[in-house]
Amino acid sequence: MKKPQSVEFVKSAQSAPDFPPPAEPEVAFVGRSNVGKSTLLNTLVATKRMAFVSKTPGRTQLINFFRIPSEMMLVDLPGYGFAKAPRSVREHWETLITSYLFERTGLCLVLLLVDIRRDPMASDQLVRDMLVEANLAHAVVATKADKLSKSKVRQQRNKLQAVYGPAETSEEVPFITFSAVTNEGRKELWKVIETHLHASKRAPRK
Ligand code: GDP
Repeated sequence: MKKPQSVEFVKSAQSAPDFPPPAEPEVAFVGRSNVGKSTLLNTLVATKRMAFVSKTPGRTQLINFFRIPSEMMLVDLPGYGFAKAPRSVREHWETLITSYLFERTGLCLVLLLVDIRRDPMASDQLVRDMLVEANLAHAVVATKADKLSKSKVRQQRNKLQAVYGPAETSEEVPFITFSAVTNEGRKELWKVIETHLHASKRAPRK
């Protein structure tokens, strides 16, 4: 994909009726709070015109929709993994995520972000199970690769890939090692996104 000319903020949604009408094919980003999701979005789009700041007060537990006109919608899903969060927050997260993942027309790829330094976590595996259950194409992105040595990256990659890699479907789940500091993985990530955008234009999700 060419460097996007502009990224527009579309809206924040707190429940399904707020979702914007489906337009361009959508790629969604999901991960634990602090995994590096807003940093990755900024690196990916590399435009000074739009700042993906999921920590904007009030936006953290919402689904934030952005669009690159005529190309795609980028969807920033609310972070999770807040052990001390009140039950009501967790329940709201689950309802919101479920309605988006299972019902959203035009969703063609979900990127599950995990911190490369952490061993597989139950919460991430739950999300991954939802993606499999919803029969959604997805890829795993291991963030903050610059924080580990090359050999440690390899070791963690193997460990994470063993858990998240195999899908119960015949399609392989791409696994990308990413760093916003070195830009490692940026091209590879765009390639995976483009492949799914093209595929969705041929066979849109019903
Ligand atoms: P979010 O809560 O998932 O949106 O996480 P942020 O994007 O706000 O990142 C959380 C913290 O991790 C911030 O201090 C970022 O600067 C840092 N961070 C994010 N990505 C990277 C990365 O690739 N490398 C390094 N070294 N730090 C990162």
